[in-house]
Amino acid sequence: MSRLDVLSLTKVFDERTVLDGVSFSIEPGERLALVGPSGCGKSTLLRIVAGLETPDRGRIEIDGVDVTNVPTHRREVGMVFQDDQLFPHLDVAANVAFALRVRGTERSERIRRVDQLLDLVGMRHLAAANVGRLSGGEAKRVALARSLAVAPRVLLLDEPLTGLDRERRDSLMDDLRRILRSMAESSGTSVVLVTHDPDEAAFLADRTLRLPDGRAR
Ligand code: ADP
Ligand code: MG
Repeated sequence: MSRLDVLSLTKVFDERTVLDGVSFSIEPGERLALVGPSGCGKSTLLRIVAGLETPDRGRIEIDGVDVTNVPTHRREVGMVFQDDQLFPHLDVAANVAFALRVRGTERSERIRRVDQLLDLVGMRHLAAANVGRLSGGEAKRVALARSLAVAPRVLLLDEPLTGLDRERRDSLMDDLRRILRSMAESSGTSVVLVTHDPDEAAFLADRTLRLPDGRAR
């Protein structure tokens, strides 16, 4: 069960303030949606929480511990990127298994966990598929399964439904809500989801915060 505190985050790119003192907190198991227009700093904010970008000011705490200078792989944070970023040379199952392999998880346990995750996202039938052949919705499902492999304390989703066609978007949206709810109940994983779509936010999250010009209100 993990709590996330984002405290007065400021990020400046080329003298332009993209995030200006953004603060918010999430209770264990809570799903928060951050909604704002393109370019307002949503991806930058998630990248800072994940440890892929350094803030100019402010800090990130997980369960009350300052992790601002803790490297990504030690934060126990999962992230699904806007553009998926699957490993192109690995098949579906190997993409999902990646973090388990890095951790040295034993083979039988790895196989069991990957099967379980592929079932969760409805992708077991494509376990051996080349990721280059997946549709946008399928790739998103694999990216989601991969981000859950090591049971993150906080899950970050960057516009998980953007760019999908209507049918795939609707089916993934239903599945995503079910998956996020079951994760919150079973392991207390907290979720931060960013989107430019308020309807998507209302459907998937418990609570919505607007990020109009880089400051949560
Ligand atoms: P969003 O995800 O809300 O669309 P981003 O966080 O991707 O917004 O970007 C916010 C602003 O910061 C944009 O103007 C973008 O061009 C700029 N930006 C993002 N990353 C960098 C970077 N590494 N260097 C310079 N500018 C960046
Ligand atoms: Mg973005």
